[in-house]
Amino acid sequence: MSKNESYLVALSQKHPHKLEALRPYAIEHEVPIIHPLSLDMVKQLIRIHQPKHILEIGTAIGYSAMHFASVDPDIRITTIERNDDMYQQAKQNIADYGYQEQIEIIFEDAREAFDAVGDRQLDMIFIDAAKAQTKKFFELYTPLLKTGGLVVIDNILYHDFVADIDVVRSRNVRQMVKKIQKFNTWLNDNEAYHTNFLDIEDGLAIAVKGESK
Ligand code: SAH
Ligand code: MG
Repeated sequence: MSKNESYLVALSQKHPHKLEALRPYAIEHEVPIIHPLSLDMVKQLIRIHQPKHILEIGTAIGYSAMHFASVDPDIRITTIERNDDMYQQAKQNIADYGYQEQIEIIFEDAREAFDAVGDRQLDMIFIDAAKAQTKKFFELYTPLLKTGGLVVIDNILYHDFVADIDVVRSRNVRQMVKKIQKFNTWLNDNEAYHTNFLDIEDGLAIAVKGESK
């Protein structure tokens, strides 16, 4: 973490949200929950954009979904998780923190969950699951997104590797990083979206859906 990031993280954690009780657990068990400054950015986007319905891909323990829900009691979130252990924990956490009315979890692989999501009209999509599949998720679910809606994608700079793939030794990681590079280029070239790519923590992309042509 850079000095600037450490400073801002310390500043933002001065008055921690009650959900921050979950962060030490996530770190200890290596659950890759969203980094703090990226989370602050996404929550601020939610305050500005005021989405009514958010689709999240990649629930893990329900941490980010509950944070998003905490912005406004009228927000409804559909979140998709394929791992049974994560799904069970998310269900428990969402009940413990009292967000059952706002958050619905679909226990399925997001590549196969289109019918379960159904004909919901989405104002925002947060993509944070298997990084090699981001483009698939984007193509599958953005038809449900309203014009002017947001797609936010986490980890687009994955561990500083996306900008510097030569340091990556592992073949599998290399493959994944290449897919992220491809996705970033594809999204940047996609004229149906206005996208900006942010160098915050593990990287965040914010794409706004334009008028369909
Ligand atoms: N958004 C969470 C973190 C998600 S971690 C937070 O910030 O708090 C990524 C999660 O995506 C993992 O729990 C993993 O099991 C899940 N996942 C990965 N690929 C998936 C897929 N194809 N369908 C559904 N869930 C997936
Ligand atoms: Mg993430």
